[in-house]
Amino acid sequence: MDKIFNIETLTRESVKKLSPYSSARDEYVSDGSEMLFLDANENPFENGVNRYPDPYQRSLKSVLAEQKRVSEANMLLGNGSDEVLDLIFRAFCEPNQDNIITLPPTYGMYKVLSGINAVENREVLLTSDFEPNVSEILKAVDKNTKLLFLCSPNNPTGNAFSRGKVQELIENFNGLVVIDEAYIDFSEQESWLSGLKKYPNLMVTQTLSKAYGMAGIRLGICYASEDTISILNKIKPPYNVNQLTQQQALKRVKNQEAVEKEVTQILQERDALIEALKSMKFVQEIYPTDANFVLAKVDDANKRYNELLERHVVVRNRSTQPLCANTLRFTVGTPVENKKLIAILKQLG
Ligand SMILES: *Cc1c(COP(=O)(O)O)cnc(C)c1O
Repeated sequence: MDKIFNIETLTRESVKKLSPYSSARDEYVSDGSEMLFLDANENPFENGVNRYPDPYQRSLKSVLAEQKRVSEANMLLGNGSDEVLDLIFRAFCEPNQDNIITLPPTYGMYKVLSGINAVENREVLLTSDFEPNVSEILKAVDKNTKLLFLCSPNNPTGNAFSRGKVQELIENFNGLVVIDEAYIDFSEQESWLSGLKKYPNLMVTQTLSKAYGMAGIRLGICYASEDTISILNKIKPPYNVNQLTQQQALKRVKNQEAVEKEVTQILQERDALIEALKSMKFVQEIYPTDANFVLAKVDDANKRYNELLERHVVVRNRSTQPLCANTLRFTVGTPVENKKLIAILKQLG
C-alpha cells in the first residue's frame, strides 16, 4: 500500500497562514545590470559588507546543487545545522501538543530544541549494537508525532545506521524523517540525498562544520522536497546566512580537492588511533566508526578523562549517556596532535 503523504497536514496552522516578511532583496532581484540600489537603507559607501546579503544564497546553492545533484529548490541554508533544525521544529511542531522521536545516545541538540519549542521528546534507545529499534520506534508513534530524528553516522557512537532499518522507518512513519548527516563525508555509506525524489517525507541535513573544516562560519544545509523547503523558507529570518559566510563557504565548496585531501588524512589518522587504542590495557572496547571520532569504552572514564586533562588533552566523556557507561569520545586531530595523544595514552597506567 502506498502511503499518503501531505506536508500540509503536518504544518502548523500559524505557519500555513503566515505571509512572510518581504525584504528589499526579495522585491527586487538584480539581473546584473548597473542599478542604483536605494531600496534598503544601507550605507552606500563600499566596504565589502555594506549591502545586505542574498537572502536565498543563490551563488552558493548553485554550486551545491551541481555537486549534490539536487535542485536549488530542494535546499535551505542556515546559520549552522542548529538553526536549520530549529526551523524544522518551528514549522511542523505545535508547542504543548506535538511530539518528536529521538534515539539516544545521540546528538544533544534535538532534545534541547524540543525543550525550547515545548515539544515532547519521545526517546527510544538504540539497540546494544547502536542501531534503531524499528519496532519500538513505530510503537512510540501517535497522530501527533511529527518528526523522527536519525543521526547517521551517529554522534557519539560513530556508526552509520543500517540502510535497511532507515528505509523501513522512512517507509512506515508518516511524519518527517530527518537524517542528520553531519559526518557523512567520513563514511563509506552513501548519503540519503539519493532518496529525496522517492521519499517526500525525507529530510537530510548536512553541515560545513565537520569535514569541510568551517565550524567557525556557521553553515548548515537542509535538503528536502520542494514543498517542505518552501515552508521552511517562509519562516526563516530573511538574512540568516551572512555575507562573509556565503563568501567563505563558496570558496571552500569549490575546492573539493582540498576538502577530500583533509578527509583522507583524517581517516588515516583515525585508523592509526584505533590501532593504538587496541593496544591500551585500559581500553575495553572500540566501537566501529564512520565519523571523524572514535568512541571507546575504558576501565574508568572519569579517571582517564582527568588524567588526559592533566596532560592538557581534552576529550569528551560520554559516560552519562545511555548505553555509554565509561566511554570517551576522541576527535581525530592532525597527524602531530594524534601522535601526541597516542604518546600520552601510552603513559597512562
Ligand atoms: C557537529 C554536529 C552538527 C553540526 O552542527 P552545526 O550547527 O552545523 O555546527 C550537527 N549534527 C550533529 C550530529 C553533529 O555532531
